[in-house]
Amino acid sequence: MPEATKPSQIQGLSLEAIAQEFGTPLYVYDGNKITSQIQALQTAFAGVNLKIKYATKALSNISVLKLVKSAGAGVDAVSIEEVRLGLLAGFQPNEIMYTPNCVSFEEVQEAVNLGVMINLDNLPILAQFGQEYGNQIPVCIRINPHIMAGGNAKISVGHIHSKFGISIHQLDDILKVVSDYGMLITGLHVHTGSDILDAEVFLKGGNVLFEAAMKFPDLKFLDFGGGFKVGYKPGDVTTDVFQVGSKVTEAFQEFCKSYGRNLELWLEPGKFLVSESGYLIVKTNVVKQTPQLTFVGVDSGLNHLIRPMLYDAYHEVYNLSNIEGNPKSYNVVGYICETDTLAADRMLSEVNSGDLIVFKNAGAYGFSMASNYNSRLRPAEVLVFKNQAKLIRKREDFDDLVRNQVVLDI
Ligand SMILES: *Cc1c(COP(=O)(O)O)cnc(C)c1O
Repeated sequence: MPEATKPSQIQGLSLEAIAQEFGTPLYVYDGNKITSQIQALQTAFAGVNLKIKYATKALSNISVLKLVKSAGAGVDAVSIEEVRLGLLAGFQPNEIMYTPNCVSFEEVQEAVNLGVMINLDNLPILAQFGQEYGNQIPVCIRINPHIMAGGNAKISVGHIHSKFGISIHQLDDILKVVSDYGMLITGLHVHTGSDILDAEVFLKGGNVLFEAAMKFPDLKFLDFGGGFKVGYKPGDVTTDVFQVGSKVTEAFQEFCKSYGRNLELWLEPGKFLVSESGYLIVKTNVVKQTPQLTFVGVDSGLNHLIRPMLYDAYHEVYNLSNIEGNPKSYNVVGYICETDTLAADRMLSEVNSGDLIVFKNAGAYGFSMASNYNSRLRPAEVLVFKNQAKLIRKREDFDDLVRNQVVLDI
């Protein structure tokens, strides 16, 4: 359960000074938080042969990937481009899991050529894969266990109407394809969605995997996906990874006994590793009073942090320039010509124009979902690493915006 804290420093460095040095809007990540989250998982699952595959899509900066690698994790990539980012960051191909959805067979072949682990989630491509490669290339199969998990329907991907995975009800079809082409299935995978609270959901997904696994004699690993919930507001219930770790470890060890061999247990956390490391620092352009509300208009918006508008996500927010001031009620909104409420009806220390406003838990699905909507430029990114604030992505400029436009002579 997170407390409502208003950090003014990361690793002893002032956030205000960082904002001054690199400008706003700015994404800042605390590298120590990322490595300590990896260590927490390693500790929680110490009883199994654990492999962590960080879900790149949460925050795909190459320096962050390198940090993740230095802490002993691999990566999960959902596109060929994320595979390439992983390779650029120095991961060995066998440390990269490629879990695409509805991509072309050509893209899958590209991933095969790069030597990464392939995870397939539909029958037609599985059959095509078998036809092309037979038993030459090991492959993992993504199973949809049909478990309703996750905070809401938008982020739950394991349910019956979900487009992800091959339905567990189609297991016989899977087995037929595998045997028709003599395929080498070395992994089974489930990922049921984001914001999974408790061990029970993991165990439910696990039980589906355990049962199916008995039909696949060549397995090396079972992949339980990601989805550990982190706290976004004070009082939020969060996943207790130590409880999940101990329960899943016990069930997994039991499974390995009946399987007859020790397999690796893979996890693909995204949010859990990077969400709490991240801060989005923005500047107040205007404080605007209406008869009803007081708006804090900032130099950012849904183009930089889309989660509040897309998922109704709650991000804690505070006034960095006036930490101890008198609390007043505000709506923090962006500068986009669209309703882009970043934080509604919040108590902030009195805000004046020029004040720096900080959004917490902005590490996951923050920058990676940022866009150029309204022809706005994307922010810079800074990683605080070994007590130093390092620029890891330059702020975009106008040239970046027009770079790929082909201007006709009209
Ligand atoms: C998005 C995703 C994850 C990570 O989900 P989080 O909620 O960020 O932990 C893991 N595996 C796959 C296949 C994903 O698509």
